[in-house]
Amino acid sequence: MNEGPFPQSLCHQCAHVRAVNTRTSSFLRCAEGTVPKFPPQPVRACAVFLAAPARP
Ligand code: SF4
Repeated sequence: MNEGPFPQSLCHQCAHVRAVNTRTSSFLRCAEGTVPKFPPQPVRACAVFLAAPARP
């Protein structure tokens, strides 16, 4: 996931991120459970980061 808001955020490379799109806005939501659902962006470092599988 490299498109969307804050393209420099570590979240885009993480398996826990979910994209939330409304009619007027886009958000990055974290589904990990122990960190805020909407962490301050851009995330530069994260203790619970989990590398997302590479996309073909
Ligand atoms: S675990 Fe950290 S890097 Fe991964 S989506 Fe959540 S806040 Fe972003």
